[in-house]
Amino acid sequence: MKLDRFISNRTAHSRQAARLLIASGRVQVGGRVTHDPRHEVDQFVAISLDGELLQAREAHFLMLHKPIGYLSATRDLHHPTVMKLLPAALGEQLHIGGRLDRGSSGLLILTNDGLWSRRLTEPRIKLPKTYHVTTLRPISAETAERFAVGIYMTTEQLTTSPAQLQQLGPCEARLTIYEGRYHQIKRMFHAVGNQVAALHRESMGDIVLDQALLPGQYRALTAAEIASVD
Ligand code: URA
Repeated sequence: MKLDRFISNRTAHSRQAARLLIASGRVQVGGRVTHDPRHEVDQFVAISLDGELLQAREAHFLMLHKPIGYLSATRDLHHPTVMKLLPAALGEQLHIGGRLDRGSSGLLILTNDGLWSRRLTEPRIKLPKTYHVTTLRPISAETAERFAVGIYMTTEQLTTSPAQLQQLGPCEARLTIYEGRYHQIKRMFHAVGNQVAALHRESMGDIVLDQALLPGQYRALTAAEIASVD
């Protein structure tokens, strides 16, 4: 629906009067003055007239089962992004709370609430993130201990927070880390002479990837899942 029609539907103003209101800068869309009466109204964005809300911005919290091959980005020229898995009008509103590499799969959280998502990713908060890891070579006996002490990252010149490794098989483990640095798990395994072959995020804090979601599917977070991050 065009903005002028939206304004006339929601108020006592005619469509002609709505156009004048828009032209005179009294209408805001997503917190910004919009002068275009033909602007296509999006159901997720806040719209106000003279500072009074005509449509509130809806809060969105989603979990997506990210498939391998999709970029955790809003747009890219060369690869499909996870936003392609959502309806366009919804995807445009959202950002990712903790990216996964293109080759990784599993739990990805998307929201339009920036304060909430910061708690997912801020290293200071130390939210546990658990991954199922498959390695190229057998996991050596000292790996768990090295990860528990912390791995020194030369680029950032810091040591990773103590992480827990639970070995599941010769080349398989469940790893819990408390930060989300660039390629962190790949670099941790590289530091102990191994290589990650597959990486799947199972959980972030108390939010666990829903087993009913196939790769590419998503659902809204429950109220309890949203509250668990507070
Ligand atoms: N660590 C990585 O190396 N890759 C991911 O996708 C997530 C954590």
